[in-house]
Amino acid sequence: MGKRFTDRFRKQEDHSEWRRPDDGAADAPPERPEPRHSALPQEPTDAPAPVAAPVRSGPILSGDGLVRTYPGRAGVTALNDVSISLKPGDFVALMGPSGSGKTTLLGLLSGLDRPEKGRVHWHGVPLDELGPEEHRDIRRSSMGVVFQSFGLLPTLSALENVELPLRVAGVAVQEAADLATTWLQRLGLGERMENRTFELSAGQQQRVAVARALVTNPEIVLADEPIAEVDSENADLILDALADVSRRGGAVLAATHNPAALFYAGSVVVLRDGAVEATGTPEEMANRIGTD
Ligand code: ADP
Ligand code: MG
Repeated sequence: MGKRFTDRFRKQEDHSEWRRPDDGAADAPPERPEPRHSALPQEPTDAPAPVAAPVRSGPILSGDGLVRTYPGRAGVTALNDVSISLKPGDFVALMGPSGSGKTTLLGLLSGLDRPEKGRVHWHGVPLDELGPEEHRDIRRSSMGVVFQSFGLLPTLSALENVELPLRVAGVAVQEAADLATTWLQRLGLGERMENRTFELSAGQQQRVAVARALVTNPEIVLADEPIAEVDSENADLILDALADVSRRGGAVLAATHNPAALFYAGSVVVLRDGAVEATGTPEEMANRIGTD
């Protein structure tokens, strides 16, 4: 196998370089409460080796002037000139009413869907200039996606669903099992690992989907309504796990209606009718977030 595109984005091994944007207490929003999850288990010490931040400055992933319409009898402009940038350390909450374009935007940024106009850049390189293999490598090793509909394989157990991306990436059987177990336990599913996903509640399936997205220690996580089906305690577990990605110098974009995300996000982008209506800090945005 020749030198792969992703080698250029090789994950940095020196953990001392991770950015910890929340370390600066002076920057902390005054009203932000103490973490409500302090009594929850700390990140396991045998958690997957975290992905380090890229050495380069600049966005990890960005979308510039994205336009996406859905043709048909009643053609819909789902996104109209939307730009967004995800830098190391970012945790961006993507909010806005149902139908405002959140899922469409996540689809474009993940590369699963293509914009009609505008471009998505991965570390400054246009996604549409990557070959399928390069794109696949990024999806496998650097990007975690949580789908609104979970996208779990119903005939596999929770554990097998979470192991799958690791096995696809070539991780050895036992190591994949250990990592998947660690993540499922962290998300409170230690007792449900052998259940097939159709035997799980929606909230449990959602946590499996989150574990599957995080188990590879991705540099970026695109999460579509990742806490829509869970109670507040599990929402905190999930949000804290997502926040870890940004604390380590990765980036998270999470579409959500749930104001709990405002405690964890560093910034908020509000979509309305396919356009960015507002961006700002969680405090600035708290009063103007539209929900379904
Ligand atoms: P959100 O995730 O914010 O609810 P979506 O991105 O799912 O919004 O949808 C944005 C708009 O695009 C909506 O008006 C929706 O009806 C429309 N839309 C989404 N997917 C399709 C599709 N596959 N075909 C036609 N219209 C679609
Ligand atoms: Mg949606």
